[in-house]
Amino acid sequence: MLLMSGSYHTIQGAEKNPSYTVAVNDPIAPELGEVQMHAVKPKAPVVGRVVSTESCMQGRSASFVRHVSIDVSGTPLAGSFRAGQAFGVIAPGEDGRGKAHAVRLYSLACPTLGEDGSGNVVSTTVKRVIDEYSAEKETDDQEAHHLFLGVCSNYLCDLKVGDEVLVTGPAGKRFLLPADPSKHDYLFIATGTGIAPYYGMVRELLQGSGDPASSEIHLVMGTPYTTDLLYDEYFASMAEEHEGFHYHRVISRSDVRREYVDRYIDREMDSTFRSFFSNPRTLMYLCGLEGMESGMYRMLARHGLSEGFVEVKEPLTLEEHETWDAKSMKRNVKSGPRSLVEVY
Ligand SMILES: Cc1cc2nc3c(=O)[nH]c(=O)nc-3n(C[C@H](O)[C@H](O)[C@H](O)COP(=O)(O)OP(=O)(O)OC[C@H]3O[C@@H](n4cnc5c(N)ncnc54)[C@H](O)[C@@H]3O)c2cc1C
Repeated sequence: MLLMSGSYHTIQGAEKNPSYTVAVNDPIAPELGEVQMHAVKPKAPVVGRVVSTESCMQGRSASFVRHVSIDVSGTPLAGSFRAGQAFGVIAPGEDGRGKAHAVRLYSLACPTLGEDGSGNVVSTTVKRVIDEYSAEKETDDQEAHHLFLGVCSNYLCDLKVGDEVLVTGPAGKRFLLPADPSKHDYLFIATGTGIAPYYGMVRELLQGSGDPASSEIHLVMGTPYTTDLLYDEYFASMAEEHEGFHYHRVISRSDVRREYVDRYIDREMDSTFRSFFSNPRTLMYLCGLEGMESGMYRMLARHGLSEGFVEVKEPLTLEEHETWDAKSMKRNVKSGPRSLVEVY
């Protein structure tokens, strides 16, 4: 949809809710093109086979993350994904209520053509959920403090090459590259395993079948420690090779400077990001921890750069962003058409 530059319009998605009105520059929204959904549903998963599993960690770390590749050839999943979508995994066994484990989603960490170049091998970046148990509801045992292991993440990380795994998908219809990627520039923001889809998208943009994309691409990766920087060598080498690709590491528990992705972008606004947000070609992608959105939206409002990226509904206003609290933001602030968001 093309709209007049700089004017105010009711935009895509706003049709459903006329109280959303934003100011936008031309063009406002990416054309995402066709996408397949749920070719394989959780009720009838197909069998994939693990073809590789590698640790993503750089030295000793408090986290355990693996890059796991699964062969889905001969199933309806083969060739059905686009970079940015997710696949489902069903762990064997039953949950506490005696029911088969529910499907868990994992973002594709490979380009549309898969790890093998023909869409038969999909991959993801999976982090083991490991913690000490803590009660979440009043009915939970308040005294318990045993080891808590996430069911599916640990199952997936434990799998060995050759093991079979039940898979479903594709899932997700909006967190995608535009059908014509050359029409846009990209700000990819990740926390933790939120880097997974960008590992696929950056490979697609810079090392796909045609010439490398001429788009400007900024990747901002936030982790607690440098040892948690996933695919760090790859992104650093792409930044060396491609003038238009910029890789920003943001470390939150550094002894030197404690930084979060929104504060980093705030600090670098005048030197790097203001012109990027003001550029009508720019799309912003956010992937990773739930909660990363609110800091970004507040910061964009503070800089007067919300147009197309953030939509605010009454009674909140952009001008009064300082007064936004978590509860009111959840109800009244949402992504605009130039923001693509996958948080979990
Ligand atoms: C679209 C999408 C994409 C995703 N992509 C990825 C990805 O690329 N990589 C990735 O690693 N994950 C990804 N996830 C998350 C993934 O789907 C799973 O939620 C995650 O792996 C945890 O699943 P699990 O079965 O290991 O944990 P579960 O067994 O489901 O346990 C986690 C749940 O247990 C509870 N819990 C957590 N900690 C505690 C505690 N200390 N005490 C008591 N209860 C607790 C919480 O309610 C939590 O939801 C994605 C999710 C979505 C929706």
